[in-house]
Amino acid sequence: MPAGQAALSQDWLRGESGLAIAPMSAPWPDRCVKCNAPAEGYRLKQSLYWHPAWLYVLILPGVLVYAVVALVIRKSYVGHVGLCPSHRSRRRWILGAGAFLAISSVASCSAGFGSNPGVSLGLGVFGGIAGMVIVQVATFAVRPKKITEAYAWLKCGKAFVASLPAASIPSTAQVPAPGIPYGSGHPAEPPDGMPG
Ligand SMILES: [Zn+2]
Repeated sequence: MPAGQAALSQDWLRGESGLAIAPMSAPWPDRCVKCNAPAEGYRLKQSLYWHPAWLYVLILPGVLVYAVVALVIRKSYVGHVGLCPSHRSRRRWILGAGAFLAISSVASCSAGFGSNPGVSLGLGVFGGIAGMVIVQVATFAVRPKKITEAYAWLKCGKAFVASLPAASIPSTAQVPAPGIPYGSGHPAEPPDGMPG
């Protein structure tokens, strides 16, 4: 058995699409989501949301319509994500750098506004947006590709996903694998395969 595999919860699976499949009730393995090193008990709480891609069509009639419908039908998954000390500090560093870029851009924009308004405003807006994007990206250690009532398909680091047992069932199967708790009802989606 590969080292590390025994330490992982068997409830987690590796999907054919290279995504980690997390059952809603399964605890996060004590492993870094990026590099699979020991997380040493550290967990980062992340509330993730997902809705089907077709919902974006509703932006055409109006953003408010889209926002309201998305709020109603979106699915959520709360992950307590493991991170190793190295990726913890890297994440903190990137968050700090993004925040510094955003704040310093706005500050230097207002400072230089009198002498050169056009350039100051352009650099201020560009730096402010870039900083906020960096913060937004670094905030989330994992990204959901699909969420149902029972499972979340998560884009995680390759080493972490590779350490999970493969889901070896056909995508049309009703249950994911022996021993995986799946409730008594009929699943809305099969647990394996590429999310829609
Ligand atoms: Zn790591």
